Amino acid sequence: MTRIDFDGVGIDIAGTRIVSDVSLSVAPGEMVGLVGPNGSGRSTLLRSAYRVLRPVAGAVLIGGEDVWDLSAREAARRRAIVTQHTVLGAEFSVEEVVAMGRTPHKGMLDRDGAEDRRTVHRALEDVHMAWAARRSFATLSGGEQQRILLARALAQEARLLILDEPTNHLDVRAQFEVLDLLRRLGLTTLTALHDLDHAVSYCDRVAVMAEGRLVAVGAPADVLTPDLVHRVFGVRAVLDSPPITGGPRIAVASAASAPDRSPS
Ligand code: ADP
Ligand code: MG
Repeated sequence: MTRIDFDGVGIDIAGTRIVSDVSLSVAPGEMVGLVGPNGSGRSTLLRSAYRVLRPVAGAVLIGGEDVWDLSAREAARRRAIVTQHTVLGAEFSVEEVVAMGRTPHKGMLDRDGAEDRRTVHRALEDVHMAWAARRSFATLSGGEQQRILLARALAQEARLLILDEPTNHLDVRAQFEVLDLLRRLGLTTLTALHDLDHAVSYCDRVAVMAEGRLVAVGAPADVLTPDLVHRVFGVRAVLDSPPITGGPRIAVASAASAPDRSPS
């Protein structure tokens, strides 16, 4: 199992500081949810771990080594990525897309062996998409494509998963299936999430970003207090434990309807 450490990370885009001084560690086997309002810098922070944006301050360590010092192949063996906007040519079949996950394990001219094919098939079964193996990727719905991209990440057999809002475009049942699967895999997982309730229900810890900075990290119930949620997201929130979930959940409502807020 692999750990990831963001150590004082600062990131600039076009001369503007977008992420400032983020220090965050995800321990082996832990699932951490990265939450924050739109534009708070979650995707930008994750891009430093994908080696798309090089930090101007600090470092991103995967398994204790600076990810920017690893070869592309070694980085891909250590961590798999599911991003928000993945565009692939129309010509690829689902099987071919998932098989791309095997690339870091093969020589340049190697064909897929029996082992690769088994791994691809298992990954498709894990996301309940084995039926679509021969379909063209481009013809699938957004939610189905998202599951295929998760299968590609699983086929990579990295011990660390980094995901950017993996439940986007998924219907409510598929959202739970993906989150249940991530839990079941037990890999080191860092995932940006937009649904606070998913963070509460599935993550060991949550990390809250606002305006490019990390403002809180800890167990969901400790961090997502009504006060913090109001300050960061501008909504009212209450944590409780309804019988249907058996665990904690967070209910949110517009701050405008807050009984203690006078009309402006
Ligand atoms: P989040 O994922 O939390 O919604 P992002 O990391 O996508 O936030 O964006 C953080 C901020 O960085 C936003 O204000 C966004 O407009 C800005 N930003 C992101 N990418 C670029 C870019 N390529 N050029 C300029 N600004 C960018
Ligand atoms: Mg984002």
